[in-house]
Amino acid sequence: MIMTSEAPAERQAAAPPPASAVSDPVELSRTLGARLGVEPAGLDEKAFSDAVLAQLRTDRLLWAPAPAALGGLGASMLETARIAANVGRLSGSAGLTYAMHMSQVLTLLRHGTTPFLQDVTARLAGEQRLVASGTSEKGIGGDVLTSICTIEEEASGDLLVTKQSPNISYMDHAGAVLVTAMRVLPDGRKSQVLIAAETARMELRPGPDVGFIGMRGILNRPYGFDARFEEGAIFPEGYPIIARETMTPSVHILWAALWSGIAKRALDTTKRYLGKELKDGEEAALARIELSRLVDKHHTMLALIRDSIADWSAAEAERASGAAGGLGLERTARVKRLKIVCSELLQEICHGALGLIGLRAYAERGPYSLSEPLRDAMSARVMISNFRLTDANAKIERFLDVGL
Ligand SMILES: Cc1cc2nc3c(=O)[nH]c(=O)nc-3n(C[C@H](O)[C@H](O)[C@H](O)COP(=O)(O)OP(=O)(O)OC[C@H]3O[C@@H](n4cnc5c(N)ncnc54)[C@H](O)[C@@H]3O)c2cc1C
Repeated sequence: MIMTSEAPAERQAAAPPPASAVSDPVELSRTLGARLGVEPAGLDEKAFSDAVLAQLRTDRLLWAPAPAALGGLGASMLETARIAANVGRLSGSAGLTYAMHMSQVLTLLRHGTTPFLQDVTARLAGEQRLVASGTSEKGIGGDVLTSICTIEEEASGDLLVTKQSPNISYMDHAGAVLVTAMRVLPDGRKSQVLIAAETARMELRPGPDVGFIGMRGILNRPYGFDARFEEGAIFPEGYPIIARETMTPSVHILWAALWSGIAKRALDTTKRYLGKELKDGEEAALARIELSRLVDKHHTMLALIRDSIADWSAAEAERASGAAGGLGLERTARVKRLKIVCSELLQEICHGALGLIGLRAYAERGPYSLSEPLRDAMSARVMISNFRLTDANAKIERFLDVGL
């Protein structure tokens, strides 16, 4: 293992047991950093994030919620969220990749009921491949419940979608992309559907690399693409149902979980700084009080995440017992609030930590640098705009009456 003096201590850990000896996926993710064989200070953010993803693949955590028959570990949402938090603490970019990929995995596992989708799911799980998201589209902004692109039929009988996507993450790792598109029904009406497009059958036209402020460990690009697929690649349920029941709640929960990991890293760095660099006295006492207020915010994040996981589990139980299976109005509003509030708390925690450490946190490198968490945190409010989510909640507020 390469060790450098600049490697932050909270990203190092004691030598872990070999992965094969550990059956608890959360424990595996907790000791991930120590199994990497590389340190973040020695690599750029992309290379480090890729190393984390490679280790997750080796540990077979990339399809953790899949059943054992598919090579998964049957991880619950709580376990998956804890894994996302542990990955996010190590690398925001790997954490975001893990969270977004997991919402695609959960979608395939729950809604991929055609023989073709089951076959693709088994193959991707067996190879521990990542699944990317192709829901946003140029011309509709972040309103993912709308699509402009429409499925066409080619002379060969193949189905084709041509889409202009403003951004797709980690295409370099993806074996498939879940793409939204409109489908013209036999009666002429249009309905929005979800397609599992295999990357091997996609023609990609990458757009310009504008560079993102944060999450620099992820290949983020706009793409124009043609995706060819067969009928069985279209999910039988309409996309609005899939989004409401699975994709949206899972991605909000897992984003919030990974953000809690980024926040934890900022807090750990601050604790280390205060412990090592500040002499006891009035200044240190004030700093400790301020740090404790930041820890309060982190606890709020964790409580909100647990609430939404409880909602997810309740809906899952209802689904298993044959009830509707959706989250319902109240839970849907709550999971949107989770995203809005946690994205803001993450920024408050990172900025508060910057204020406490000062210049050495503002530095790009060094043992107390918070450059990466600060930049990564900025993506949180943009990924499905907080304004858009708040607007949606504001429209249903009069139907909600939530108490303790
Ligand atoms: C790091 C990162 C990774 C991403 N990865 C992917 C990916 O893999 N796949 C993918 O499909 N997409 C991805 N996206 C795109 C993302 O999902 C959204 O589509 C995109 O961030 C929304 O873009 P927008 O802000 O331009 O659009 P919009 O949501 O249209 O917002 C534009 C502006 O309008 C405002 N606005 C919008 N609606 C309202 C409203 N109702 N009330 C008031 N103001 C409003 C917004 O606040 C914003 O200022 C990623 C984004 C980021 C930041």
